[in-house]
Amino acid sequence: MDFNLNEEHVQLRSMVREFAEKKIKPLAQELDEKESFSYELTRQMGELGLLGIYLPEQYGGAGMDYLAYIIAVEEIARIDGSQAATLAAHNSLGIGPIYNYGTEEQKMRYLPQLCTGNALWSFGLTEPEAGSDSRASKTTARLDGDEWMINGSKIFITNGSVDINIGTTVQAVTHESAEKRVYHHHC
Ligand SMILES: Cc1cc2nc3c(=O)[nH]c(=O)nc-3n(C[C@H](O)[C@H](O)[C@H](O)COP(=O)(O)OP(=O)(O)OC[C@H]3O[C@@H](n4cnc5c(N)ncnc54)[C@H](O)[C@@H]3O)c2cc1C
Repeated sequence: MDFNLNEEHVQLRSMVREFAEKKIKPLAQELDEKESFSYELTRQMGELGLLGIYLPEQYGGAGMDYLAYIIAVEEIARIDGSQAATLAAHNSLGIGPIYNYGTEEQKMRYLPQLCTGNALWSFGLTEPEAGSDSRASKTTARLDGDEWMINGSKIFITNGSVDINIGTTVQAVTHESAEKRVYHHHC
């Protein structure tokens, strides 16, 4: 097995490192102190192709591999853990379920805009009484006609409360039996 990074990975790493040092570093401390979310840095990460980096180009992605995605997160986290969390949560928790489990229609509808940096998607699993133990989740989803009624409360949802959030994938209990817990999409 070859553990060396290929040319594309090396170029990506230096591009992201330069972006993190020049654009994020000067702002990171102030953003942290003010507990502010930077729409501008998020848009710039989109322009660089970091949002949806592992998605095929047909969905608006950069068509790179998962290792490239990890390199990008690593380089951003080297400078600012918060901006790295925005990037990682959006790509893995936000885009991941839609790309892996969504219908073709959902993919075409949501993924291209989720690659631009002007729209984010989040994932709601954690509840006040259910963190590591996700099976203790109490939020329910019941089908009412052709709409899901979701009842419960979620906390710590990265990218969930920003103005550019366009949806959240919510983990909810859909059956009485504790053995049958499924993920359900809520937009
Ligand atoms: C920066 C950040 C971003 C997050 N983003 C999201 C998000 O986007 N969506 C989302 O749904 N959630 C998110 N979370 C929440 C995160 O998933 C939970 O915090 C995590 O699952 C832990 O749950 P908890 O905080 O309830 O801690 P607990 O589960 O109560 O754990 C508390 C402590 O007990 C220990 N512990 C727990 N269970 C066991 C066990 N069985 N054996 C031994 N030790 C144990 C843990 O290691 C920990 O030290 C985020 C959290 C952070 C910090």
